[in-house]
Amino acid sequence: MLNEKLHNYLEDLLPDRNELFLEMESYAREQEVPIMELSGIETMLQLLRIQKPKKILEVGTAIGYSALRMAVALPDATIVTIERDEQRIKVAEQYIERSQKERQILLITGDALNIVNEVGSEGPYDVIFIDAAKGQYQKFFEIYSPFLDKEGMIITDNVLFKGLVYESEIENKRIRSLVKKIRSFNEWLMKHDHFHTVILPVGDGIAISKKRGDGE
Ligand code: SAH
Ligand code: MG
Repeated sequence: MLNEKLHNYLEDLLPDRNELFLEMESYAREQEVPIMELSGIETMLQLLRIQKPKKILEVGTAIGYSALRMAVALPDATIVTIERDEQRIKVAEQYIERSQKERQILLITGDALNIVNEVGSEGPYDVIFIDAAKGQYQKFFEIYSPFLDKEGMIITDNVLFKGLVYESEIENKRIRSLVKKIRSFNEWLMKHDHFHTVILPVGDGIAISKKRGDGE
């Protein structure tokens, strides 16, 4: 998160989301579901409005918040979204049904690392949004980027991990190892031969990677 005053100022300026989204936001707060932060999702939606994707792949549905926000912002797009947690799948299905967006959202259940063929057969995708287990980001990127359209874009959330990626000393061993993985993903991604990437310090840090054309 940026400077807190600035952050609050920008969040206060945002128009209210509809009732269902506000309900999902409080559910996520109460149940500690890590849905995307507001400044992050607003930035992503704006990029999507510019890009106008028809088909989006999301890795990490949780309760369907970001999938539904994308569906509402882009009425012509379909979203294929992956989740492995049984409880969250149930909640996501209910929210998708209540918003009557079943036709726009296809929820594929399972571990994203094991269902590549099924997910690939729904492609190609104009946008891929990676927002699942942070330790596996490079794997998700590697296995799903072949299904990206040549004009496509990959958005990865949480690449600044609450600012921990630029802290030098981290006590907790598990967090330290996760931080190492995110750092190495960021470095790998920034020098990827086939993508131009910029990391935006909004929300929890989002990386925007655009496929390079010939000679770019
Ligand atoms: N995109 C959502 C938040 C996703 S939270 C939103 O902003 O609304 C991350 C989710 O990814 C969690 O629900 C977790 O269960 C799921 N996840 C993590 N690793 C996964 C994997 N390998 N396969 C499928 N889902 C995974
Ligand atoms: Mg996230």
